[in-house]
Order: sequence, then C-alpha cells, then structure tokens
Amino acid sequence: GDILLEIKNLYAQYNTDDAVVHALNGFHLTLHRGEKLGLVGETGAGKTTMALSILRLLPPRVGQITHGSILYDGTDILHASPKEMLGLRGERISMIFQDPMTSLNPVSTVGDQILEVLNLHFPDMTKEEKDRRVDEMMQMVGIPAARKHEYPHQFSDGMKQRIVIAMALVAEPELLLADEPTTALDVTIQAQILELMKQLKEKFNSAMILITHDLGVVAEFCDNVAIVYAGEVIEYGSVEEIYARRKNHPYTAGLFNCIPDLYTTTPRLDPIPGFMADPTDLPEGCKFAPRCPHCMDCCASEAPEMYYMGGHGIKCHLFREEGTHNADTTD
Ligand code: SF4
Repeated sequence: GDILLEIKNLYAQYNTDDAVVHALNGFHLTLHRGEKLGLVGETGAGKTTMALSILRLLPPRVGQITHGSILYDGTDILHASPKEMLGLRGERISMIFQDPMTSLNPVSTVGDQILEVLNLHFPDMTKEEKDRRVDEMMQMVGIPAARKHEYPHQFSDGMKQRIVIAMALVAEPELLLADEPTTALDVTIQAQILELMKQLKEKFNSAMILITHDLGVVAEFCDNVAIVYAGEVIEYGSVEEIYARRKNHPYTAGLFNCIPDLYTTTPRLDPIPGFMADPTDLPEGCKFAPRCPHCMDCCASEAPEMYYMGGHGIKCHLFREEGTHNADTTD
C-alpha cells in the first residue's frame, strides 16, 4: 500500500542539567495508510518520544532531535513551518494520551471541546452541521448527546477517555497516535475502551500507532508490531509472524514469558532479569547484551543490524546467517 509515515534513523535526546538522555537511537519505522501498528516496549524505551517527535511536541529546549528524518505523506516534518505543523496536528494526525485530562479543558463543556476541534479544522462547516457532528460523535463513543453540556469532572475516568477519543476522531484524522490509552483505567473499563476502539477502527479508516507495553492488546488490535528497546526498533513483523513465537528477538521472547498463561492454572511470570539500558550511558554493542541469555562474544562490541526473513526483521546477531540485511531500510 501507500506509505503514510516514514521515520528514518531518528536520534532524539533530552538535555538535562546532569546528563544527556538518549531516548531515540536510530529509530526506523514505516507505516502505510490505514495500517494499525502496535509499538511495544517497556517504560522508557522511547515510544512516547517517538510519538511526540512526529508531532514536533518534544519539550522545547530540553528535547532535541539530533539526526534522522520523518516524512509524513511527503512533508518533511523536521523542517515543516509552524503553519504546516498546525495543519497536521489535530486534523490529519490526532493523539490520545494516557491521562485524559492532558487533552481536556476542565472549564469548558465536553460538547464545546469537540466543537472546538471542528471550528479549528473546518472553518467553512455550518453551525448546524457541526452540532450534528458533535452529537453523532458523542453517541458513537457511547455517551448520550444530551450530556454535551456537562464538564469533564462530571464524568468518570472511562467516560473522559471516551470524550478524548471523540475529540481525536471527529476530524477523521489519517493517523491516530494512541499512547497507552487504557493504562490509567481499571481493568473492566480498559476492556470497554478497547472494544470501543475496535469498533471505531472499522468505521474510521485512520492509520493507527498503538503505543503499549501490553502484547495482549496488540494481538487483538494490530496488523503489524514493532518492538522497541532503548530507543530502537529491535523487531518488526506482522502480528502472525511475531506471535507464532518461532523466531523472536531474545528481548521479545522475554516479553512473551512475562505474560501470564491464560490456559494453565500456573501463572508463567518470568520477568526479564536486569534493568532497562540506562539511556544516559548506553552499551556500545547490542543494547540488550547485559540482559540477554544468548549473549555472545561479538555482542558487547558490535551493534547488530536488522536482519530480515521476508518482512520479519530482527536486530540480533543470532539471525545474521539466516536473514538478509537490507541496507536501504536500516540506514
Ligand atoms: Fe542477545 Fe547478542 Fe542478540 Fe543482542 S545481539 S539480543 S546480546 S544474542
């Protein structure tokens, strides 16, 4: 299909008073129109930094992209004008954050907030049409339109996230970035929100990047998966390829071992030993080497390339013989 987003060899860092935090370290990703991609990794792996980089919303002065490129439907994001970025944000690209209050204004009714998105992006739409769209969107996310005159604090957390979803989708964006959209909610509500998002993904043809630490959510939701570790994609493939568990990056294999086995009564919880690589002091070779059960002599000194077996890529020396290294997509 048609490529919507192409991130190439992206490096991003946060310059703090006492250290430089290397959040993205040669990040590659290609997303097609309408594709649903799961971006999976632990906290601190760089997933949110990637999403904020696409929107150019890294914290000013502290956050900095030092290398690489982001192409969005032909627009060079890193060199786009503020006006171009305004056109992209909200209208063509929407973001749903973990905490709904990041996106909601406490002193404005929820109906007005959805309307505001329409005002911003569809100045020519009639008032009647906008009102109709607001009502329709509220119903679509399962909230009676009559409640549009209420304020965010009058809704439960799950309902707030539904309103945020309504705001994110009302402009029918081409790309939806959803950053752990259910993590802050309790388990029952999580399931309801995911179910809602699943229904909506059929109705709206948006491409989506679902950022999560939860492999289970991705299996239900996505076409493709990118596993992120220490600011790079270390494995990429279709949900089928990754979840078949025939070939995986040792880190991905570790993530699978952390999922409780639903079919047996004994929980199979083996957290990956060791800590996430320190982003202020990254290892030279493979960044997973200090935690890897298969670590070889070469691993500590030589960073692995992405090796491809068909469309399934794994960044690990174990697959050097078997895979092909496509210089075009890794550099
Ligand atoms: Fe483990 Fe080496 Fe593969 Fe890194 S390159 S994941 S250390 S086997």
